[in-house]
Amino acid sequence: MNFLIQPKKYQNPQWDEGTRAIFDKTIAFFEARGKQRVLDGYTRKEWDQEFVDFIGRERIFAKLLPPSEYGGGDPDCRWDTARNSEYAELLSFYSHSQWYCYQVTILGLGPIWMSKNEKAKQRAAKLLREGAIFAFGLSEKKHGADIYSTETSLTPRGDGQWVANGEKYYIGNGNKAKMVSTLGKMKDGTDDFCFFVSDFTHKAFELKKNCVSHQEYVANFALHDYPISADDLLERGTEAWDASLNTVNIGKFNIGPASIGTAEHCFYEAITHSSNRVLYGKRVTDMSHVRKNFMDAWLRLVAMRTYQRRATDYFRDANEKDRRYLLYNPTSKMKVTLQGEEVVNLLWEVIAAKGYEKDTYFHMAAWDIRGPSKLEGTVHVNVQLIRKFMKNYFFNPVQYAPVAPQFARRDDMFVFNQGPAKGLGAVRFHDYRPIFEAYARLPNVTAFIKQTATLRRLLEEVGPDEKQDADPCFALPLGEMFSIVVYGQLILEQAQIDDWEQAVVNQIFDFMVRDFARFALQIYDVPSTKAEQRTLCQEIMLVRPVPDAAEYDKVWREYVVVLNGEYAMNE
Ligand SMILES: Cc1cc2nc3c(=O)[nH]c(=O)nc-3n(C[C@H](O)[C@H](O)[C@H](O)COP(=O)(O)OP(=O)(O)OC[C@H]3O[C@@H](n4cnc5c(N)ncnc54)[C@H](O)[C@@H]3O)c2cc1C
Repeated sequence: MNFLIQPKKYQNPQWDEGTRAIFDKTIAFFEARGKQRVLDGYTRKEWDQEFVDFIGRERIFAKLLPPSEYGGGDPDCRWDTARNSEYAELLSFYSHSQWYCYQVTILGLGPIWMSKNEKAKQRAAKLLREGAIFAFGLSEKKHGADIYSTETSLTPRGDGQWVANGEKYYIGNGNKAKMVSTLGKMKDGTDDFCFFVSDFTHKAFELKKNCVSHQEYVANFALHDYPISADDLLERGTEAWDASLNTVNIGKFNIGPASIGTAEHCFYEAITHSSNRVLYGKRVTDMSHVRKNFMDAWLRLVAMRTYQRRATDYFRDANEKDRRYLLYNPTSKMKVTLQGEEVVNLLWEVIAAKGYEKDTYFHMAAWDIRGPSKLEGTVHVNVQLIRKFMKNYFFNPVQYAPVAPQFARRDDMFVFNQGPAKGLGAVRFHDYRPIFEAYARLPNVTAFIKQTATLRRLLEEVGPDEKQDADPCFALPLGEMFSIVVYGQLILEQAQIDDWEQAVVNQIFDFMVRDFARFALQIYDVPSTKAEQRTLCQEIMLVRPVPDAAEYDKVWREYVVVLNGEYAMNE
């Protein structure tokens, strides 16, 4: 079974011919460019117009990013979260900057496809066919995550039009996007939120600077009495507010795959380097601690990819009665991205100086891997979000029809019709316990079940009081501990679908048990934690993974060390 992406042997049996062509052309583009030129672009911080031209020429975004009704009759056009997510992984495998260009194009299109403004939609569809990229203008320098405080304004001119004024900060593709979906507030006595489109070529659009020193362009721009007509206005009022949060929901789901792609490429470089390095007459990978780092890195990587795959099914199958994706999505965002950082840390400890070398993908990725956890809401913001689901997840399960793997060639139109962005506490989940019980024959899953049961007791018997609940120092580690249960659940669901070898599942739960204990220690250490809560945290910490040397060795031999030389990007 192929657990990681390998572009030179790329295949996904689920893809139709048109989708395969998109992936094959992208792989061919990057492999023909070669690693050195990718790294040169990164080092010189050059805007990658060649990539944008390639995407336009091959109509790649034009196929991946419109709902089919805006595809101009092209049978390959559809908004398909499964392929968009895997495409994000592939782009990031080659380079984070090009992934980011794709990511912010997705965000920019969100409010447009959600809007009722048909002219704006037709314009976006036409621009996509012409090879355009898009941008999402939410953030402002002073306000960060606090978008309630947005200052950009639309003021009526008295002739049915408005003028936009204000300044946006951290806006990807702001240097090239003909349609920047921009969030503002109506200055017509209502203070309503509104979304409108602005165009970087307009003379009232001042491109001030690139806020970052990287290949991607993360713009600071200002609008000075920028004229906005009804054709440019996407939404106003609660619909504009919902569009901003619902767009972030869509974009968020492509961030985990960025971390996966980056970490996968690092893994190939690292295992190939270390397996062929001899110190004191011994291969580096023969040292037990090195082996441990590689095992942990590979298992974490497989878990990241597996979680994302299964979460995609829930995302594609979502509807107004099944909004479980609202938990699985921020869990992907905070968990998969942080795990990506951990994988690269583990690998870097081993490859040491090699990770600094300018001709490695690794040295670029070691910086890039830090980014995803900070985009589309920080880890804190996403953990706070998932806490809203904790009560129903543990104590109020409901039956749903099983969700099958979702690879049908259809649009995921619900993502553009998610409805009000509130009512999260009312979302119900299927019982997490049966899938764990189905794997209870594996000792590390049994250990994890014990920890989960203790966490449940903690919530039930000595749950956070009002003060603890309002204190992020307590609430955040508790949220992280909750996230690991959700993570484990979806990993097992996918393992069952793919009928994985049990050794891999059991070894994954080795690190999961260790992580669970780590979060329990964090809660234990919070000054406001009560004695009864500490006792239960201790119980969780005392559960250890069950060692199995033969199984560990088998996974190492059959899955991990065999990746030595498996992939190297063309020079
Ligand atoms: C490279 C890059 C590209 C970006 N691209 C875009 C883009 O294309 N379009 C766009 O609109 N924006 C973009 N952003 C902005 C990004 O979405 C913001 O970084 C994000 O909203 C957080 O704002 P901040 O980083 O200023 O942190 P702040 O909001 O200043 O947060 C400060 C601290 O407070 C914590 N915090 C904030 N709110 C809460 C909460 N509710 N609960 C707990 N803790 C909280 C944070 O976790 C953080 O630790 C980009 C940012 C970067 C770095």
